[in-house]
Amino acid sequence: MNEPTFLRVALATPLKRLFDYLPPPSLPNNRLSAGCRVRVPFGRGQRIGMIAEISHTTDVPANRLRQASELLDESPVLDAHLLALLRWAADYYQHPLGEVVATALPAALRKGGALAAPEQRWVCTDAGLATDIEALGRRAPVQARILDTARHLPGGISPDDLQPPAPNWRNAIKSLADKGLIVARAGAVLTGDHEAYPTRAGPTLTAAQARATEALAGAQGFNSYLLEGVTGSGKTEVYLHAIARQLAAGRQSLVLVPEIGLTPQLVRRFRERLGVPIAVMHSGLADGERLRAWTAAATGEAGVVIGTRSAVFTPLPKPGLFIVDEEHDTSFKQQDGFRYSARDLLVWRARQLNLPIVLGSATPALESVENVRMGRYDRLHLPERPGAAQPPAVRLLDLRRYPATDGLSAPLLAAIREHLAADGQVMIYLNRRGYAPILMCSHCGHVAECGRCDARMVLHRSRGRLVCHHCGAERPMPTHCPECSYPMHAVGQGTERLQAALAERFPDEPLVRIDRDTTRRRGELEAQLERFRRGEARLLLGTQMLTKGHDFPALTLVGVIDADQGLFGTDFRASERLAQSFVQVAGRAGRADRPGEVLIHTASPEHPLLTTLVNEGYAAFAERALAERREAGWPPFGFLALLRAEAAQRDAAFEFLNAALAAATPLAHEGVHLLGPAPAPMERRQGRFRGQLLVQATQRPALQAFLSPWRLALEDLPASRRARWSLDVDPAELF
Ligand code: ADP
Ligand code: ZN
Ligand code: ZN
Repeated sequence: MNEPTFLRVALATPLKRLFDYLPPPSLPNNRLSAGCRVRVPFGRGQRIGMIAEISHTTDVPANRLRQASELLDESPVLDAHLLALLRWAADYYQHPLGEVVATALPAALRKGGALAAPEQRWVCTDAGLATDIEALGRRAPVQARILDTARHLPGGISPDDLQPPAPNWRNAIKSLADKGLIVARAGAVLTGDHEAYPTRAGPTLTAAQARATEALAGAQGFNSYLLEGVTGSGKTEVYLHAIARQLAAGRQSLVLVPEIGLTPQLVRRFRERLGVPIAVMHSGLADGERLRAWTAAATGEAGVVIGTRSAVFTPLPKPGLFIVDEEHDTSFKQQDGFRYSARDLLVWRARQLNLPIVLGSATPALESVENVRMGRYDRLHLPERPGAAQPPAVRLLDLRRYPATDGLSAPLLAAIREHLAADGQVMIYLNRRGYAPILMCSHCGHVAECGRCDARMVLHRSRGRLVCHHCGAERPMPTHCPECSYPMHAVGQGTERLQAALAERFPDEPLVRIDRDTTRRRGELEAQLERFRRGEARLLLGTQMLTKGHDFPALTLVGVIDADQGLFGTDFRASERLAQSFVQVAGRAGRADRPGEVLIHTASPEHPLLTTLVNEGYAAFAERALAERREAGWPPFGFLALLRAEAAQRDAAFEFLNAALAAATPLAHEGVHLLGPAPAPMERRQGRFRGQLLVQATQRPALQAFLSPWRLALEDLPASRRARWSLDVDPAELF
């Protein structure tokens, strides 16, 4: 006899619970399965949800139980492993499963669309292999190009693989197919056929690269590796070899890269070297493109998936290896909504699937350094750059001895001249966009501030505007003080002002400036970096955006303007972030055969962070920073969660936080402490008042045991309806 069946459905709502429904009408129960989407009535409308469980009991009274309207999937779009990952993530990050599922699914599936049809591919036939490409090229150049590309892609080519796109490729493909030189096919391409995946030759590995590659080849089951290699030491080569080995065994690899690291160049390098279809996932994809990439991964058609943060949720039927490049990068932690760490989730997924995972960085997160020390991660080390490339010489320039005019000191200017004269390229790093961070009255000292934030307005002079970098508010630049009518003056340096200063001193030298203001248009960042790489400009000026994995072989000098910004930050991670950006920026100088030089402007040359980094390097810095963290009980020696609240009325935010504190008392756990409530470091932002309550614990399980019931209690607090709030587990920043 049939038991009653109920669907426990995850819906994207702020409530951390599942919703029970009766199965849709006239559907055999064996068609229902966790991981399938359903359309259900919700309130007065309809929603799309994910079946999380099939249950034979429910707490919902029969008269209130509603029936699902429609089953959307024949077979699950989330397999059991992925569903387990999402459920674990929802528990760990204290976030509603429905919203977690919504983050994981491509928008097209979230909205109820069907999986994409597998992409049409064309594979080179034996006749195609035997064809004389040069002869063909004389008559039909496009056909020759397509055939040549197809020969190097055993998985077959799609129009995407033709970069730049070929005109008339449809006709050319048809002609090639008519002649029997290529044949169409769709679907999975991972054959496990070793011979089918020749990697296009790369450089001969260095001894250190070979050792790392060997270690990965010997990996059995779950193991975490920290691939620590100075910038330019050839980590990507190690990834490519490890991935090629997986492909040869018929297995897929998933590579996570930071937001800004996912460049067309990187993808091209992977495509050319690996010769298989690669699915690329990033936030800039249109719905259809994302769905196609997801489908290519889910069907096994793509041998490699390269993506940013949310690609951690990509379905993989034949997973073999996971990689997180630049694992220290903060873009792996989502900073709003479902606040997950993609790096940490991928480690969990590797353990779940019993696979090796490689975390790569020149400046590993302190957590990862500690994991190596504790023997939880195996360290693979690339201590130097291949060939003759030497690490750059780094020098601190004391601004008290060498005062800067317009942000530039005499020794830095001299060095710029010298390097340009020697045909080198120069990069100037200033992590502040706009013209000047302060606009001040020369008479009464009045400073232009944002009306909605506790922050100063930044002057963007070329646009004649004052802009708040925290809420985006803008207003025209005043010429005179609103208080006393004296003239206003720009104080301090931003990239816009530094650009003008450099243009004045080097009038004949074209300059590329990289910051959020100059790279708003899609493709602009790449285009500008390419200009610099080709040598059309020899001066490069920019912000944080320059710190990620760019390779500029002719770059010999790096100047860091204003190292002191952030040196005295309040966040416990501030020094780690600063050290990482210094080392990453400095690492751009002097690749290949040219020695590099790094000059750092500072008014505090005796600051221990700077002296340790310059004299002893990142590892010594990390060791000292870890000792400090241990002393203070900060991560990785303690575990944190941050409850943030904001409201238009200051009282409403704090009323909620105080109620949250009171709700915590009966749940008190040994080793769990609450600090606060306290105002956020920037209390008012976008017209809202912000406060926070920090939960600090000595053990992760104790923290989790406390958070689960507390999160549910928070939902029920009357004060929770008058404030916007969020709970952030393992916060990346304490504001
Ligand atoms: P990373 O990922 O550590 O920054 P890459 O793998 O991008 O380093 O390598 C940096 C540069 O050095 C690239 O131009 C790459 O082609 C080159 N390279 C890497 N390994 C070798 C090697 N073994 N021999 C010669 N050149 C190499
Ligand atoms: Zn004034
Ligand atoms: Zn503002």
